[in-house]
Amino acid sequence: MERTLKNYVGGSWVEAVGRETLPLVNPATGASLGRVPLSVREDVRRAVDAAQKAFPAWRETPVLERSRFMFRWKELMEKRFEDLARCVTIEHGKTLSESRGSVRRGIENLEVAAGMPSLMMGESLEDISRGIDCETIRQPLGVFAAIAPFNFPAMVPLWFLPYAITTGNTFIVKPSEQVPLSQELTFQILEEVGLPPGVVNLVHGGRDVVDALCTEQGIVGVSFVGSTPVAKHVYVTGTQAGKRVQALGGAKNFVVVMDDCDLARTVPILTESCYGCAGERCLAGSTVVAVGDVYGRLREALHEHARRIVVGDGLDDGVDMGPVVSRRHMDRVLGYIQKGIDEGAKLTLDGRNPKLPPGLEKGNFIGPCIFEDVTPEMTIAREEIFGPVMVLRRAKDLDEAISIIHASEYANATSIFTQSGKHAREFRYRAGVSMIGVNIGVAAPMSFFPFGGAKSSFFGDLKAHGKDSLRFYTDQKVVISRWF
Ligand code: NAD
Repeated sequence: MERTLKNYVGGSWVEAVGRETLPLVNPATGASLGRVPLSVREDVRRAVDAAQKAFPAWRETPVLERSRFMFRWKELMEKRFEDLARCVTIEHGKTLSESRGSVRRGIENLEVAAGMPSLMMGESLEDISRGIDCETIRQPLGVFAAIAPFNFPAMVPLWFLPYAITTGNTFIVKPSEQVPLSQELTFQILEEVGLPPGVVNLVHGGRDVVDALCTEQGIVGVSFVGSTPVAKHVYVTGTQAGKRVQALGGAKNFVVVMDDCDLARTVPILTESCYGCAGERCLAGSTVVAVGDVYGRLREALHEHARRIVVGDGLDDGVDMGPVVSRRHMDRVLGYIQKGIDEGAKLTLDGRNPKLPPGLEKGNFIGPCIFEDVTPEMTIAREEIFGPVMVLRRAKDLDEAISIIHASEYANATSIFTQSGKHAREFRYRAGVSMIGVNIGVAAPMSFFPFGGAKSSFFGDLKAHGKDSLRFYTDQKVVISRWF
């Protein structure tokens, strides 16, 4: 009999009240990985109760003591590093080296949050008027929650939880129901850290849990990462219910290649940007815009590099690209490819039906694809594909490349490849996108910088991690005092 995952509430593993479950499947082999419960509002209520009960004592725990838990947690995460990385690959499909990278990036948030005693300090000024002093203090607010997407099962909740709890709040994580195992393992590790019961809680499930988290009275704020329609829904529902919300949405990232770039160095970086994690990254390069006469040389080199990518089970040595997360997602990506062809684009590298080693017949594999002759109104030019599909376009100059970027409804990440400081400066000045790479393929801010986009890629004002995070998870108060 397949095991069903449990929620972690108030320091114990408990069966979900919701009886419905979904199957979990290894995306490379089709093997069963158990079942995830679809929790219901009552499960969320129980987690909120536990987190509310834990809040007063946790808030009063000195910040240095709260931060010390991060050191212990990091130590235990390092011990289980390989287990975590394998778990990510098994449930999500990305290669082991990609999984290791994501777990490393996740752990870095614990390292930054460990500095909370310094980060959380306020400001003070004597004599703002005769004999009157003023200071700011930051105070935690209560129970926060994070809702995660499927593409970084271990890392994304770590963009939030460490900052929320070291600032003195208590927390609920809702992982993606497609990839809940990495969070189960993370919470097994957290259990050993010895946090007081109720400080961290885990509730599995889908949209019912999301809607409950956005509306339950006891929750003061929600951090969301996922697709744009759901990000918008969470932002609207959560803010209407009076909560703080930061909602990171989908992306369509443009990579501009100038004819003065160092092509030999640029091409492998572009290939990684578009096909790394099978294109399932919110920072993935999606459209490559070749400026001026670089197009011919660039297209040749990109095809050559993409053809060399080895597709297979992410656990196997020598594999460069794993499967996409599910059969449903594979069908969606294949649907985009068909639409591209139907709307008149040229599929110059066809990765459908890639060559695979035996035993992977049930996996969700798509090899690298390249589209050329793509016009702005085509679906593949506008929508997020979230798969290993590169769209190659031309622009006559940097102005035109920037207008292509401005025409997109998304503004998560973008990059330019150039050897000219003038081009680079103009690009960062005018691109209008939040995460910008200069000769960097995936402009991923590290945990001490803010992470998040603009336009339909982000709803809210304070971004994930970095200093924004402690602003999001605390209220800044001002104390003005006079003593007679
Ligand atoms: P998704 O929006 O389908 O799911 C995200 C979360 O929302 C999941 O926990 C899911 O259970 C829940 N959910 C799904 N549908 C819902 C609904 N109708 N009502 C309420 N809740 C719902 O996203 P996904 O497919 O898991 O993840 C991929 C998306 O996430 C891509 O669009 C990608 O660009 C985006 N993403 C963005 C960032 C970023 O930093 N901006 C980072 C990672 C992923």
